[in-house]
Amino acid sequence: MTAKQVLIVEDERPIREMIAFGLKRAGFEVREAEDCRSARAALVDKRPDLVLIDWMLPDMSGLELARALKRDRDTRELAIIMLTARAEESDKVAGLEGGADDYITKPFSPRELVARINAVLRRAAPHNGEERIEFEGLALDQASHRVLVGDKTVPLGPTEYRMLEFFMTHPERVYKRDQLLDRVWGGNVYVEERTIDVHIRRLRKALEEFGYDRFIQTVRGSGYRFSARAE
Ligand code: CA
Repeated sequence: MTAKQVLIVEDERPIREMIAFGLKRAGFEVREAEDCRSARAALVDKRPDLVLIDWMLPDMSGLELARALKRDRDTRELAIIMLTARAEESDKVAGLEGGADDYITKPFSPRELVARINAVLRRAAPHNGEERIEFEGLALDQASHRVLVGDKTVPLGPTEYRMLEFFMTHPERVYKRDQLLDRVWGGNVYVEERTIDVHIRRLRKALEEFGYDRFIQTVRGSGYRFSARAE
């Protein structure tokens, strides 16, 4: 397996170097950036698997950078962990709402950081393995390409399966129709955006029988989201 790449965005050099040292020792490939501008340049250069972003940066706050990365379709899939000296709950919430996948408060041990990074990467790339992903009894079995409720298979066409697989591996995020087209059909196929709605309807119908159609949520004016939470 190739080494996972982490980009560290932190202006304080001693901290940055300490983190880089710890991550290299844990087998990660590491790149460093000292502000948001150089982080952007580094991202264009080569896409890492995960970005560690310090909250306090000289040119832009780390939170703003995280938000900007999540808004940009080229970088929205990047896993992000925020580093911060703050420990307040409200900051944590702001960080997570800003698009970060996790949050770690300074001071932290290299071991703790590595554990967090591995956890986020596992969540970010579930289809690298043959994992089983489950939301309240609705299970995606990627090894057999089936969706199960208990021991019953949810009958799905291949497109509905791919769509549900994409949703279940990317929960809690809103995807516009054109993004779903890109991700589920692949960019080269010509499919009308309205076709998405047809497949969404079919998917909901298949899930309805098992009481899971509520997981496929319409977000008015935006698109669709998979969520096991209430709307
Ligand atoms: Ca800093």
